[in-house]
Amino acid sequence: MSTEVTSRQPEAVREAFEQEFGRFARFRGEGRAVALSELRLADAEAALRELAELRTRHAGKKSALANLKKQIGRVAPEERAAFGQRVQQTEAEIAASLDEAEAALRSHAARARVELERLDVTLPGRRPRRGHLHPITLVRRRLEDIFVSMGYAVEDGPEIETDFYNFTALNIPPDHPACSVQDTFYTTEGFALRSQTSTVQIHAMQRRKPPLRVIAPGRVFRRDTPDATHNPMFFQLEGLLVDRNVTMAHLKGTVTEFLSRMFGAGTRTRFRPSYFPFTEPSAEFDFSCFKCGGTGRLAGEPCRLCKGGGWIELGGSGMVHPNVLRAVGIDPEEFSGFAFGFGIDRMCALLYSLDDIRLLFENDVRFLEQFN
Ligand SMILES: [Zn+2]
Repeated sequence: MSTEVTSRQPEAVREAFEQEFGRFARFRGEGRAVALSELRLADAEAALRELAELRTRHAGKKSALANLKKQIGRVAPEERAAFGQRVQQTEAEIAASLDEAEAALRSHAARARVELERLDVTLPGRRPRRGHLHPITLVRRRLEDIFVSMGYAVEDGPEIETDFYNFTALNIPPDHPACSVQDTFYTTEGFALRSQTSTVQIHAMQRRKPPLRVIAPGRVFRRDTPDATHNPMFFQLEGLLVDRNVTMAHLKGTVTEFLSRMFGAGTRTRFRPSYFPFTEPSAEFDFSCFKCGGTGRLAGEPCRLCKGGGWIELGGSGMVHPNVLRAVGIDPEEFSGFAFGFGIDRMCALLYSLDDIRLLFENDVRFLEQFN
């Protein structure tokens, strides 16, 4: 092999490559952004296929370049090193050109694909899943609406309380079973998770001077083994009215009005004497069953909701105990008031005919979706 021929060969291989690569040259270097910006996705994909063929032809196993590499050993020893170097350089330049153009085309094609999908209005839309409020929130809002329309303000209070708010100010003596660790969750010394929303009565009376009308819906905590009708965490709504000359008749009228707005105009109420430390006198209140209209029977069968009795027990109430008024500096000789409370979860279970209140807290979407 003559020196002249071998000395020209790497250049010839490069020239042949560059002639074919010419149409891809615009995809490398400074001008590539402009060149690519005019390229549609289909054209970029076609260019990539052609580029792959070009690579096979000029850098593959059967290419002129591969052939040239095999010849390195046959070049005269004094020229071999220089020749080998030129072959290697040619190979590196061809690879760099191919790699650079390919990388630019690939990233352009990927971007174009995303853009095309984004703009393709013929693709069927994905319907977003619409969320909705939790059944307890739905009931709470209904309750709030009723009481707000009756002139009550909605109050909120802390869920962690001191003994003063949870017990002492509510006229609950320290030896009362409600204070024991059997019934109440204690955190650190002197703090407890509130066991009733009555704590908000105290806060409200301290903040506002009578006359006042407030309701306090909120979460309360009691040590209880969960079952179909009990949960260690549940929601209560507490109502409080303090004014001059307030009597038990006002309490009964208010509860009756609220229940008829909640369960229908024909709803009757019933008060039974009871005991709570923070009210005197105290009464539990029931209302006529809204399923059977208070008859206890439905289509000839005993009503399942009221178990045939015609009445549904709901909550507790009474006249605010003078000691509770004194605890917040209100003179019981001048002011009197009433308070009432009931479970929102229980009302929710009644309204939606739930057999087990635990369903409300299991976060099972299949259950919750029914209350849309
Ligand atoms: Zn009934």
